[in-house]
Amino acid sequence: MGEPLLKIRGLKMHFPVYRGAFIRREVNRVRAVDGLDFDIEEGETLGLVGESGCGKSTTGRAIIQLYRPTDGEVHFDGKDLCTMENRELHPLRQDLQMIFQDPYGSLNPRMTVGDIIAEPLRVHNLAKGTKRRERVQELMEIVGLDPRFIRRYPHEFSGGQRQRIGIARALACEPRFIVCDEPISALDVSIQAQIMNLMEDLQNEFNLTYLFIAHDLAAVRHISDRIAVMYLGQLAELADGESIYKNPLHPYTEALISAVPIPDPEIERDRERIVLEGDVPSPLNPPSGCVFHTRCPYAFDRCKKEKPAFKKADDGHFVACHLIDEPERRVRKGSQDALETAQETDEVPA
Ligand code: SF4
Repeated sequence: MGEPLLKIRGLKMHFPVYRGAFIRREVNRVRAVDGLDFDIEEGETLGLVGESGCGKSTTGRAIIQLYRPTDGEVHFDGKDLCTMENRELHPLRQDLQMIFQDPYGSLNPRMTVGDIIAEPLRVHNLAKGTKRRERVQELMEIVGLDPRFIRRYPHEFSGGQRQRIGIARALACEPRFIVCDEPISALDVSIQAQIMNLMEDLQNEFNLTYLFIAHDLAAVRHISDRIAVMYLGQLAELADGESIYKNPLHPYTEALISAVPIPDPEIERDRERIVLEGDVPSPLNPPSGCVFHTRCPYAFDRCKKEKPAFKKADDGHFVACHLIDEPERRVRKGSQDALETAQETDEVPA
């Protein structure tokens, strides 16, 4: 395999918190993204999953430089975007696009659909006059919209149609990489499958590479080649979809998978759900050691003190958890195994 299309190393996005009305001084930092390392191959879909507020959207925005990262490297096609001036980045922005979560809020209500889709063409000076209009109509057809509606306004379309407008706008400059930021979560379930199918068709037709962001594993299961699980600004696990589902190594992934409903009522009734206790800690003051230790059902002493490295556990399977070094500790608090072990050893389970 050649060089990946995107190579992300040590990516950090911290937002400073200031205090003081007259003399403003930085008092803390929100560590929204705190050191990510991963690659995305050309033509692949990488699903990025995690709870709300874990830094998924910020990661997507930092990769395409809508936010300039605090630290780290984002190599796109061999060039580090983080070291480039805005002027140098401008032509590369054609290749890096984003589809937003909210098809209602992400389209300017005062612009016609034609103007919205044409905007990137205007910004990058790619087509003018009749050519621009023809290209807009072509894009509308590609995403399944009637080109006769070119003069209509966003409020005249349904949620699914508005998301198609957002997709057409993202495609206008013939990008290579698209960050899809929860593109289906604001849509009716009946429409979600249509939009997913459209995105898959477009990927095949135009050899697109996607970072597909979602808050649950069920949403990314079918579209992703590999899945990355994120918790509190850090990667917990990354592997191909099958390994993530059949052999989750990180306790957080295990809990997320246990929450995915199974369509068979009998299996669904008997399956074990892992309910995580407590809330996600604040990224202003993340826990010491492993950031997941305050909620992890397997946490042991080392987890509070030492941050686990994000390392290879198997071919293409990466995880940040001390259980990789100490598999004998994989005994869940409160589980039957933990109680039996406690009775045998006469100890209170940790
Ligand atoms: Fe749980 Fe410890 Fe692994 Fe973190 S390192 S996920 S706290 S077992």
